[in-house]
Amino acid sequence: MLSQLAKGLVPYTAGEQPRDRRYVKLNTNENPYPPSPEVDKILRSLDAESLKLYPDPDCTRLRDVLAEKEGVERGNIFVGNGSDEVLAVAFAALFDKVAPVKFADVTYSFYPVYCRLWGLPYETVPLDGKFMLARGGFCDCGGVVIANPNAPTGIYEDVSEFIGANFPVIIDEAYIDFADGKSLAGAASQSENAVVVKTFSKSYSLAGARCGYAVASRENIEGLDRVKNSFNSYTVNALTQAVAAAAAKDKEYFSGTVAKIKATREKYRGILNAMGYECTPSSANFLFAKVPSGDGGRAYAGLKEKGVLVRWFNAPGISDRLRITVGTEEEMEALVAALKTL
Ligand code: PMP
Repeated sequence: MLSQLAKGLVPYTAGEQPRDRRYVKLNTNENPYPPSPEVDKILRSLDAESLKLYPDPDCTRLRDVLAEKEGVERGNIFVGNGSDEVLAVAFAALFDKVAPVKFADVTYSFYPVYCRLWGLPYETVPLDGKFMLARGGFCDCGGVVIANPNAPTGIYEDVSEFIGANFPVIIDEAYIDFADGKSLAGAASQSENAVVVKTFSKSYSLAGARCGYAVASRENIEGLDRVKNSFNSYTVNALTQAVAAAAAKDKEYFSGTVAKIKATREKYRGILNAMGYECTPSSANFLFAKVPSGDGGRAYAGLKEKGVLVRWFNAPGISDRLRITVGTEEEMEALVAALKTL
């Protein structure tokens, strides 16, 4: 027997992780490079016995490392089991049921799912013809959620005007490390209304470790903590706390990997554009390419048959496009070769 809530929920559909064959996997914005060698060292030196104890529920050491990285205090950092969990917690902590939460019509498709889970009313605001935010649409609301750079468009915009707004704002910076623009994490820590959310899944190559975090004022972080501690004290396991801290400290490896991905992105944006697959200017680790035939679904299926997995969203205004994760040069060459056979 199920509750009305469980019966009615339409969950988020994550990108495929198929096991039927080996794919060139460009569908879930994972990083093609391994995590920092410091992560490997941690895993090799692991004392299995340490796992008999619960992890630190407050992620104290990791928060100290993150506070230093972001130029804020430990009290300005909240850590969760991937940024998806941090977002879920933030929706519950920041938004009330009195007025609709607003976000773009083309953005991360988990946002409406969180709203339905928590019973929050929401409205989408159409992006303009260039996939940019229509700023005027974000007033009279109970709160705003913005992915910046946006997904699946990859477009970065200056959204600093939302810091200090008279409603709560969540800025999802999952892809910010691949952008030339600045993170608003520091500004959020000084604001009453804004929470910035980041992840180790993309730029730190740690999607499998599940670690995300929020930067906000002390008061807002305390609110996130209250929500989290009302369903699970130990959301971030001990291994993840240790490897995320090691990865965050290895700034040189991080910058090198991010620079490689940005260079590959620009190279293949040029190549895809020249092939007629017009790409938006991406500030993320993926390209959003328009299929010349206009039939994104067919292109997606054709590529899958050739062993190249990309993401296609069967949604209004974007069904003629593919979201293609930036892989290694070899993976991108395989993509280009497969596209040429379509
Ligand atoms: N935000 C955006 C915009 C994303 O694309 C993703 C990845 N699906 C996430 C958040 C969640 O990432 P994770 O839970 O792996 O940190």
